[in-house]
Amino acid sequence: MYCQQCNAYNPSHVAHCRNCGIYLVGTKYAGFWRRFVAGSFDLVIVYVACGFLALFIGAFLGLISGSILYYVM
Ligand SMILES: [Zn+2]
Repeated sequence: MYCQQCNAYNPSHVAHCRNCGIYLVGTKYAGFWRRFVAGSFDLVIVYVACGFLALFIGAFLGLISGSILYYVM
């Protein structure tokens, strides 16, 4: 790949430019464990958010149905 700063050519496996030394960003994929940890974090965040949402919906529905029953009976 070509350096985005000095435009010098660098082999794809190097992390820093051979000419100017800046960090080369772009084509490199994150490692397996990095992606695994990121995916786990996403899963936990979604899980917790859904749990809280379900809790609030359940409490809300319980409150409504409870008060309706209270007024109907
Ligand atoms: Zn460079």
